[in-house]
Amino acid sequence: MTVRTRPDLSGIAPYVPGRSFPGAIKLASNETTAGPLPSVMNAIAEAAAGTNRYPDNGSVAVREALAAKLGVSVDRIATGCGSVGLCLELVQATAGPGDEVLYAWRSFEAYPVVTKVAGATPVEVPLTPDHAHDLDAMLAAITDRTRLIFVCNPNNPTGTLVATEALERFLDAVPAHILVVLDEAYFEYMRPGDAGDTAPDGVALAEGRPNVVVLRTFSKAYGLAGLRIGYAIADPEIIAALFKVHLPLSVNSVAQAAAVASLAAEAELLARTDAVVAERIRVRDALIAAGYEVPPSAANFVWLPLGAHAAAFGEASATAGVLIRPYGVDGARVTIGDPDENDAFLAFATGAGLPIW
Ligand code: PMP
Repeated sequence: MTVRTRPDLSGIAPYVPGRSFPGAIKLASNETTAGPLPSVMNAIAEAAAGTNRYPDNGSVAVREALAAKLGVSVDRIATGCGSVGLCLELVQATAGPGDEVLYAWRSFEAYPVVTKVAGATPVEVPLTPDHAHDLDAMLAAITDRTRLIFVCNPNNPTGTLVATEALERFLDAVPAHILVVLDEAYFEYMRPGDAGDTAPDGVALAEGRPNVVVLRTFSKAYGLAGLRIGYAIADPEIIAALFKVHLPLSVNSVAQAAAVASLAAEAELLARTDAVVAERIRVRDALIAAGYEVPPSAANFVWLPLGAHAAAFGEASATAGVLIRPYGVDGARVTIGDPDENDAFLAFATGAGLPIW
């Protein structure tokens, strides 16, 4: 007799992370190329010596450091096993079978996964022809079953940004019982002007809007992707609900120590994002000059809307030693690495015979 798993699992495609192989230049997962700072390495080593003990389930030291940085109280912050862990917990806290979770598509690959894992129904609203969120269409897609809306800002994989005023109008139009999750995994790469105004700041937008949650992560600009720690900023009632659905002890002690040390060295870490932004502009300009369409990006990657050519482009790039991320028949996402890595990608993408479309 075989074990009976939930019948609805047959409708879930497991999350497939970016692949890698030894010697490859990996521009597939929006990581930082640089490793942890020496001070963070020391904190990691020190915490590693204590891993016979369970971690602090309340992540108090991390939450206190974040509260001080963001100017909010500690009861407004939760940590998770990566911000993807918090995506799942937020859906679990608000939605179940029969409920709907709304998000733009294409967007972060984990949204459909966490929605279906919670037993809820995904409702996907196509991006505009400019590869950006269609907020009016998203408002029109709200039903009496909608429980949660993800807005990925800037959007993964297209890099596009919703400007502050448009976001404000959207948040004011969403009924107050629906949770809106502003996923700002790439917040640190936004620059004034990226959305034609000041860079939108979810934490400011969440003030006075108790149905708005902001998600950020230590995986990208802080360079701790391998340790798995992200955080949510929300109304204390939402945070309390997150603690109920939280997988106990899933934010490990090494990650917590590294996060605290990273916040202590924040200025140095954030200075690194300036180099990434400069490279983002250089790579985009070079690709446009070579004939590609590349929407403006506010993140640490660029999007090539190659349509049906995406898979072949991804394969050819891998053969050239540069791993990027093709997405179905939509396009390919290329992470901004250090200048040498970016040059290797540009040599492929602008080399003889390309672009062929
Ligand atoms: N949100 C978005 C938009 C992402 O792109 C990612 C990572 N690819 C995450 C959340 C999750 O990041 P992590 O779990 O490493 O914090």
